[in-house]
Amino acid sequence: MRWGGRRVARLRAQVVAVYGTRCVHCGELIDLTVPSTSPMGLSVEHLQPRSQGGTDDITNLRPSHLHCNTARQARPIGAIRRAEGRPDWATRPGRAG
Ligand SMILES: [Zn+2]
Repeated sequence: MRWGGRRVARLRAQVVAVYGTRCVHCGELIDLTVPSTSPMGLSVEHLQPRSQGGTDDITNLRPSHLHCNTARQARPIGAIRRAEGRPDWATRPGRAG
């Protein structure tokens, strides 16, 4: 299954509709006017990495900044947030809008 192009665009729209635009890693809002190729642009994060059998199902996806997604690498979801003492809200659906 290819990861890119129109499929990603559709998944991004679904993720924003379900979870809003708050970054799963740093907790800051993601500006959707920023290009997705920008570090502060919207990236679709997989809670369970695709390399570890994670799927593209909406329940496995969350919004994140591209740079936060990149910075995470192989660390588990929540590592950045816990390091900053933030509450554990990442695995719950956010308030859209
Ligand atoms: Zn972020």
